[in-house]
Amino acid sequence: MRIRRSLIDLDDLTAEEIAQVFEQTAAFEETAPGRRLAGRTCVNLFFEESTRTFTSFNMAELRLGADVVNLAPRNLSFTSKGETLGDTAITLGAMGVSVLVVRHPEAGFPQRLALGFDGHVINAGDGVHAHPTQALLDIYTLIEEFGDLKGRAVAIVGDVLHSRVAHSAIRGLSRLGTTVVLVGPEGFLPSTYAGEGVRVERDFDGVLPNVDAVILLRIQRERFVAMPISDEEYVAGYRLDRRRLGLLRKEAIVMHPGPYNRGMELDDSVLDFAGWRYARQVHHGVAVRMAVLDLLVNARSL
Ligand code: ASP
Repeated sequence: MRIRRSLIDLDDLTAEEIAQVFEQTAAFEETAPGRRLAGRTCVNLFFEESTRTFTSFNMAELRLGADVVNLAPRNLSFTSKGETLGDTAITLGAMGVSVLVVRHPEAGFPQRLALGFDGHVINAGDGVHAHPTQALLDIYTLIEEFGDLKGRAVAIVGDVLHSRVAHSAIRGLSRLGTTVVLVGPEGFLPSTYAGEGVRVERDFDGVLPNVDAVILLRIQRERFVAMPISDEEYVAGYRLDRRRLGLLRKEAIVMHPGPYNRGMELDDSVLDFAGWRYARQVHHGVAVRMAVLDLLVNARSL
């Protein structure tokens, strides 16, 4: 069987390929890309709820001229009819499906699917593991703002433990030489996250004057059995509000992968803040995903 490239996490891309994705992103935002995926079929397989990522992948595929099939299985596994995941992958490959975009609550699911699939798998979020296209669009947004990210500092705040967005962003930013400052209470952020280029801090106010960007995270309530701290404690220590915005550097920006919960990780003053970049992130998401699809399907070197 021909081995084809998939994107399970950022490690699957070399530094050159990431640079290529960003170059293409800029080009695709400038000029419509044309039907570079004409005659190819993309299947979006979403086992978990999604608004942004699902729509964004759909738009990216349609803009590239692909045929698109959307599947939202009600069961978490295909095995309700006794078929193994590997056999399902063989079936989809035999139909001539080129790309599978997969979201699943189980970490490792897209990887397992990729093992048996004669096509490209793109991980659209697997459990708490990874969300590589989100990290790419986050990094693209940061580069748009600051240029080279080497030597810059980015705070990632909140429920790091359950955030696949944070996990992919940490990997991606560290590779670019950016200092990652993780901020949150112990229950959301064990000290073991600290490592080369990655700091763990508990005092949000102390971090704010020293970073170029803040990425806020949603508390992943659906992944907790019991919440480690009360909402009131979280808000007191970690909600970004008007007073805390005042502690930021003048040129600092604030980001969020969405969906954001007003009143929890941020209050309404953040949505009016000049450095709030949420809409930029969402905007870039479509072209970043077009660039990833184009790289996986069309790049000659892969
Ligand atoms: N949309 C992101 C994800 O799917 C972040 C979140 O849900 O909080 O991981």
